[in-house]
Amino acid sequence: MKIEIKPKVTLVGAGPGDPDLITLKAVLALNNADVVLYDALVDPVLLKHAPDTASKVFVGKRVGKHHFPQQDTNELCVTMAKKHGHVVRLKGGDPFVFGRGAEELDYIETFGIETEVIPGITSAVAVPASVGIAVTKRGVSESFWVITGTTSAGKLSNDLSLAAQSTATVVVLMGTRKLEEIVGVYKNFGKADLPIAIIQRGTTKDEKITAGFIGDIVEKAFENKVEAPAIIIIGDVVRESIKLAEVYREAISVAERQ
Ligand code: SAH
Repeated sequence: MKIEIKPKVTLVGAGPGDPDLITLKAVLALNNADVVLYDALVDPVLLKHAPDTASKVFVGKRVGKHHFPQQDTNELCVTMAKKHGHVVRLKGGDPFVFGRGAEELDYIETFGIETEVIPGITSAVAVPASVGIAVTKRGVSESFWVITGTTSAGKLSNDLSLAAQSTATVVVLMGTRKLEEIVGVYKNFGKADLPIAIIQRGTTKDEKITAGFIGDIVEKAFENKVEAPAIIIIGDVVRESIKLAEVYREAISVAERQ
C-alpha cells in the first residue's frame, strides 16, 4: 500500500524565549509534524512537542555569520514537504515580526503547497512585559514603534529618527551593535534624560537587564557586556516598571544631591 503524501508547510511562532510562552495551537501543529525546521532563537526543548519520528533540522543563523542561507531554508521547506508531508517551520517570537516569514511563505506558495500561519507572541512586546515595562500606558505612552536596528542593508532604520521625535515608546530589535548610533539619534533631539533599557535573552533563565538613560546607557551596556539577542526599549514607560524602580529612584536621588 502506498501512503499518499500531502505536502503542507505551517509557519509557527515559538514565542519570545520561555518555552512555556508558545501557544496551544503551535503545540498542536508540532504534535502533527513530520519535519520541524527551527531557528537559533527557538529553545530546542520545544522539539519535544513533535513526534519522536519527526526529523528536526536546525536552520538557524547566528549573529554575523549566516549559518544557513535563507534561500536554502526556503528550498528545504519545499523539498521536505514534498517528501515527508507536514513541515513545521518554527520561528522565534512571531514569524511576521522581522522573521522573514512572509518571504518564506511567498516562496513556498509558488509551488502550490498548502500553507498555514500560526502567530506567536513577539519578543517586541513580551520581553518588555516580562520586566514590567508596559509598551503603552495611560498618560505615559499612547503608541509604540517596533524598529529594526539592522535593515537588509545592515543599517539602522531611518524610521528611528522619526520615532525619536515623537513621544512613542520605541522598541528596537537587532540593535545591540548599533547602540551608540541609536543613542546618538536621541541625543541629537535633546533627549539625553530619556529612560532606556536593554534586555538580553528576555523571558529565559539567562535574562540580563541593563537600564539607565540615553546619556549613560552606552557605558552601562559596556560594563554589563550586553550581547545579542537583546531588545532595546526607549521611553518614559521604562521608568514606570516596578522591577526597574530602584535604578530610577537612585537616579532621582543622585540628581537631587547635586
Ligand atoms: N520574530 C521575532 C524577532 C526576530 S528578529 C519576534 O517576533 O520576537 C531577532 C531579534 O529579536 C533579536 O536580535 C532581538 O533583538 C530580538 N529578540 C528575540 N528574542 C529575544 C529575547 N528572548 N530577548 C531579547 N531579544 C530578543
